[in-house]
Parts: sequence; structure tokens; C-alpha cells
Amino acid sequence: MRAGKASVHRKFGPVENGYRYSYVIQPFVHLFANLTPRWFFPNAKWCSPDPLISFRLTTPTVYGCLSQAPRLPRDGQEIAMSDGFNLAVQAGEISFDRSFFGAPGELVRLSPLVRRIVASNAGPMTFTGTCTYVVGTGEVAIIDPGPDRPDHITALLTALHDETITAIYVTHTHKDHSPGARAIKAATGARILGCAPYDFTSRAAGNPIDAAHDSDYAPDTILRDGGAIEGKNFSLICVETPGHAMNHQAFALPQENALFSGDHVMAWSTSVVVPPDGAMRHYMASLTKLLTRADKIYWPGHGGPVKEPQSFVRALIRHRRGREKSILSRLNAGDTTVPLIVANVYKGLNPALTGAAALSVLAHLEDLVERGLVRMEGSAALGAIYRPA
Ligand SMILES: [Zn+2]
Repeated sequence: MRAGKASVHRKFGPVENGYRYSYVIQPFVHLFANLTPRWFFPNAKWCSPDPLISFRLTTPTVYGCLSQAPRLPRDGQEIAMSDGFNLAVQAGEISFDRSFFGAPGELVRLSPLVRRIVASNAGPMTFTGTCTYVVGTGEVAIIDPGPDRPDHITALLTALHDETITAIYVTHTHKDHSPGARAIKAATGARILGCAPYDFTSRAAGNPIDAAHDSDYAPDTILRDGGAIEGKNFSLICVETPGHAMNHQAFALPQENALFSGDHVMAWSTSVVVPPDGAMRHYMASLTKLLTRADKIYWPGHGGPVKEPQSFVRALIRHRRGREKSILSRLNAGDTTVPLIVANVYKGLNPALTGAAALSVLAHLEDLVERGLVRMEGSAALGAIYRPA
């Protein structure tokens, strides 16, 4: 039976985050006849007991996803199969990795220079909780001390009781990242370094996003792009990455080709980019900026590592460009308001997520207006009328 042939692909291991391509092929028998070890298919349902192989069958067309080819097909590429049948590749949704099970309060070694302790603030926006990283051994730096939760701070200080904390780095001032810095500084005398304080007078003062920021954050040193601080046996270099928050920074650890990516790039989810604090234009530029780097792994502010950063970041860019394209086509079709665009772009959306979708559409519209591609009439961005420029 042809389907049996597909099961050989299990030896290629589980799907990593990074890329996922949907494909459409008909009739489906050609698919099995032409599988080679270059391809495998995750989340099996019907064709084989192998959990790596899966298809959703909508006769006579097969939809599925295709991952981890040694040479990745491009979006739009047609792959010639052995009998002359062509497989059209379409970039699909990003494959997120939510397989992270960090127990809060436990300091876990991740690499020779990196350890992680997860805060007990799990939630819909924080996933399993904020990841606080410890860099170095003996004389260490902390990255993202997390929320000011006594259990988290105590667990961190207890785990490091025979080491010296010399510096506390902060990626951005959202309340799940920076407030713990003060308690750690008070207990150890360590310096607070990293992002600038949130400017509460910026853009739209008094906007609801202000509430998400830590107004008591007071760094000893504000780092700027490329600014490097030497630790014992390691250095941390500031990579400014505004977008999720205007003051967002990542920190590179060149000794391990690693990047602490904060909330800019995370394996478990896309980043929240909501105006006025978040800005799509900056977010996209900050993604593109990461493509110029050669980091081998990202350690994000929530969830597990991004193990193939380049392809993952490319997928994030593609995802947002795809969304932008859908919004533009809705504008061209005559939709003029955020609610109309949301209703047509996010068909079948859980109503509980409508507000979040509206803010995401707004972030794109703001970017399109800044780029001169869209005109906005009215001042209240969410209630404005938008038209193609
Ligand atoms: Zn954040």
C-alpha cells in the first residue's frame, strides 16, 4: 500500500519551529507515490500510525504541511515530482513550538554560559511565565529579572547564593520583565543596565498601554545599539529591537552565538505589536535587522528557545506581510473601517479575540499610513475611515 511508504520519514525527527509550508496536490495518490526521504509531514491522522505524518483530506485535494526539507522550497515554487506532477508550495502559517515545560523557581542549565529560571506568572500573555536568564558562572549577569514576585526573586537569589550577581539587564519595561530588578539590586548591589525607561509622555500620553509599563524602572546605564558590557568570560552586546515596545532591546552573547531576544522573537507565539507603544514599522525593521546577524539560537522572554532563528524570523516577516496584503486587498475591496477589515480578514475568529485582532489590524494600518499607501480620515485611529492612497 502506498501510504506505508510514507512511514520511513519518521527517522527525520520532530518538527522544529521555523518553517511550515502548506501544499495542495491532487489527486492525493501522487503524493504518496512521490514522497522521498527529503520530505516529511507532521501530525499524522489517517494515513499511518506514525505521529509525524498527517493530512487533512478534502477530496480530491490534499492539504497538509511540509517541513524540514534540506533545501527549503520557496513560497510559490513549483517542485517537479518524479512522474512529472508538480507540487505547488505556498508559505503557510508559522509553526510555533509550545513544548516548553519549565517548572517555575528551578534554575536550569541550558548551555555552558546560560541558565534559566522561570517566574510563576504563567498566563495567556506570558505563556509559562517570564524567563529570567543567568549568564556566566561565579560572577553572573541576570537578564530580565521578571515581575516583582517575592517567590521568584527568592528562588533566584537562593539558587545563586554562592555566586555574585554583578549586573541586571532589562530588555524592555513591561511589568512582567523589569520590576524584579529593584529587589535584586537592593539585595546584591548589582547595576541595572539595558533599555531606556518608558517615555510616559511619548506618542499618546495616558494611553492604556502605559499601564503595562513599569514606571519605577531606573537603570544605572542605558545601553545603545552595539553597546557592549564585559562580564567574566562573557560579553553582552545591546541589539536595539523596537517594535513590541519602543524601548525594546535584545542582548547578544557572542561567546555562544546566542541572542536574548526578549519579547521581540519568541518560539511559542508571535509578538504583540499594538500602537501606540508598539509600532509595526519598527517591529518589521527589527526583524529584518536580525536577518543580518548570525545568531545560532535565541533565548526569548517567554517559552523555549528559537533554534533556527533565521528561518523563523523569515517566517515571521512573511506572516506579517501576508496579513498586510490581506488588509490592503480588503481596503481595495471597499472595507473602510477596522471592524469591517477584522470581520473579513479573520473569518471564523473566536469573538473573544476580536479586540486583539482589531489592534493588530490597527498596527498594520498605522504602518501603511506612514508609508503613504493608505489614507486615514479622522483622528481616533480605531474609529477612523481608511482608504487606499
Ligand atoms: Zn513585553
